[in-house]
Amino acid sequence: MKESFMYKQKQAFTLVELLVVIAIIALLMGILMPALSRARDQAKTIACRSNLKNLALGWVMYVDDNEGNLVEGETGWVKWTAPGVDFLNREKKDIKDSDLWPYINDLGVYNCPADRAMKGYTDETNRVMPLFRSYAIPGGMNGRHSNYLPGIEVKKFMNIKAPATKYILVEEDHVGEDNGNWGSWILNPKADNWWDGMAVLHNKKACLAFADGHAEIHTWVDKSTIEDMGNQHLQGVTPAENEGEDLKYMQDHYELRVYPTD
Ligand SMILES: [Zn+2]
Repeated sequence: MKESFMYKQKQAFTLVELLVVIAIIALLMGILMPALSRARDQAKTIACRSNLKNLALGWVMYVDDNEGNLVEGETGWVKWTAPGVDFLNREKKDIKDSDLWPYINDLGVYNCPADRAMKGYTDETNRVMPLFRSYAIPGGMNGRHSNYLPGIEVKKFMNIKAPATKYILVEEDHVGEDNGNWGSWILNPKADNWWDGMAVLHNKKACLAFADGHAEIHTWVDKSTIEDMGNQHLQGVTPAENEGEDLKYMQDHYELRVYPTD
């Protein structure tokens, strides 16, 4: 009996051993968690690029089926209505009523998995609802650019110069309390400031789709873009002094049929 009792005692964990095991697990978690979080963020970025690739292919198919005309980028590719009650469901309905929907047929591709915008839209029970659509067509790509800024929109695919270098979809910031990413995303190719806001959802990166149907993960380089753009609620933000490379990139790849002359 005595022998068996001692044997049992030898097999049990001491408190110190248990604490050592807990400390090792905590250490491993500390090492693994950031890596897992990075992997999760990376997966969301890749899924976002895949969304834009699907939307861009639909956009190109629409051109093919419509004698080279671009889908209307203001209210045609999504039929948006004013914000209000049951906004989320209306937003989804507006997407399904749009001209591009027959070429897409998948609601999921309109939402970036990293986009968790909650901007004051309330449902019938006063819950704040997330916005659904994460992407916008630039005003120059048959959106509504010239109502706000100099320059005339491109309406036909044949008038796009170097389609592989001109973006057709951006991740737009949901600016302000009453802005559900309405209309097209615009930019003045000659100004030293941004017009509409960009969403920075992917840790210094954004996804863009181009007129030849491909999509890219683009890395921002200016601190002011990374820190201010995703949070800004004003139009016309100027890059910080000695910055502006990101603005220049977006201006160089923004298409207009007729450019502002000044
Ligand atoms: Zn995204």
